[in-house]
Amino acid sequence: MIRLFRPNCPNPAALAAQNYKHPDNKAALKGASNDKCMYCECKISHIDFAHVEHIKPKAEDKYPELMFVWENLGYACPKCNNSKSDKYHEDTPYINPYDEDPEQHLVAYGTYLFSKNGSERGDLTINDLKLNRPDLLEKRQVKIEELKRTIDACFRTSSQALRKAALDELQKEAEVDKELSLFVKSYMLLNAA
Ligand SMILES: [Zn+2]
Repeated sequence: MIRLFRPNCPNPAALAAQNYKHPDNKAALKGASNDKCMYCECKISHIDFAHVEHIKPKAEDKYPELMFVWENLGYACPKCNNSKSDKYHEDTPYINPYDEDPEQHLVAYGTYLFSKNGSERGDLTINDLKLNRPDLLEKRQVKIEELKRTIDACFRTSSQALRKAALDELQKEAEVDKELSLFVKSYMLLNAA
């Protein structure tokens, strides 16, 4: 999870008409997270597969009054959205990347996401959203192996040009629009500094 910035709502009339999935608004959320799930940073292959996530659940016994409130909407993959379901803890809310910097609560190390500074909110977010589920561990592992190959090539080559190309490639992988960028950044800090 990385810090995101909420755009203005492009189509407030749709929300007023009780439509929280309007394509204009969904596209704005997609753009704000660079086509990635707001929670697990996986690219969502097609916008139709993405869920408009209700940060505070819209269930009748939870926060139905927030069903059409822009600030309560996000862009999530089906796996995170289904894991979170209608869970929400008023006293220990899940980390909301649109409102705060997740890196105050969460840290990537290897293929795992950990809470940091004793953050209970971080722990709950990881556990309830299953942010160390097997498919994510596998994706992170594949990404790390790619990075390792590039870093090795960097160290081994005697060609300045090849080294520069490899370093440029590494730098790009850590940018916010890339999948799993938090894990890439963490791996590079430990292995390519
Ligand atoms: Zn996800």
